[in-house]
Amino acid sequence: MSKTVVITGTSRGIGRALAENYIARGWNVIATARTVDALATLNAHQKLALDVSSEESIKTFATALGNTPVHLLINNAGIGGADSLGTLTQGELVRFQITNAAGPLLVTQALLHNLKIAAASNLDKNPVVVVNISSQLGSIKDVDVFGATEIGGSFAYPASKTALNYYSKALSYALKNDAISVIPMCPGHVETDMGGVGAPLKVHESVAGITENIERALVDKELTMSGVYINYANQKLSC
Ligand code: NDP
Repeated sequence: MSKTVVITGTSRGIGRALAENYIARGWNVIATARTVDALATLNAHQKLALDVSSEESIKTFATALGNTPVHLLINNAGIGGADSLGTLTQGELVRFQITNAAGPLLVTQALLHNLKIAAASNLDKNPVVVVNISSQLGSIKDVDVFGATEIGGSFAYPASKTALNYYSKALSYALKNDAISVIPMCPGHVETDMGGVGAPLKVHESVAGITENIERALVDKELTMSGVYINYANQKLSC
């Protein structure tokens, strides 16, 4: 029986490539995007609307899933952009938190029922996996690495990923007894609309690494990977 993966933000970029990759691997892919029209050319098992910044949309999406077991949830959808001191606004700071941090947390909460059904049906006791696509820019320790650059000087985007890393760690403890592994993962600097032209990694390189990490996590019965912040190349990052 094919396993089921839910991926957010599959209209373009890394999310789109992840969806194509899991379709090619024979998974039941539930592809989501803000508008289903954006998924017209994707050959997914199911295509559903999901705006991760809207509680209403998350609720409607979870209702549409019903009792479908979900073995893998990839919280990929996110917004990017740089800002700088002097032009910060409360609205923008909150908008990033809502989409990049609260979004993945609330989607995970809404799909707990489906994740638990999948975990209970794994007779081999393998875990189900939630991947939160984060960013190394969210690492407080690595502020020193990026500090002098334009993106390092940003506030809203990195802090939203810092919050996502915290939520991921907290979720890893909350869900340990349910055999649900939660992994915050940086995809690397990838050539997408967000990553920009000339970024060092092609989308397929990042997706290959993310997929290898997920393969390991899906058979990690002891949940040793849960709550551990890694990048696409399986290098440990520091929150
Ligand atoms: P893109 O900008 O290419 O794609 C972003 C995707 O997220 C789009 O599908 C977009 O949909 C979707 N999205 C944005 N807001 C929402 C929302 N409210 N609800 C649902 N979907 C939404 O970015 P990438 O593919 O590069 O980024 C994917 C993830 O990887 C993000 O979380 C990003 O922060 C992370 N990342 C990317 C890096 C990079 O170098 N590219 C580096 C580190 C992390 P729509 O088409 O409707 O706008």
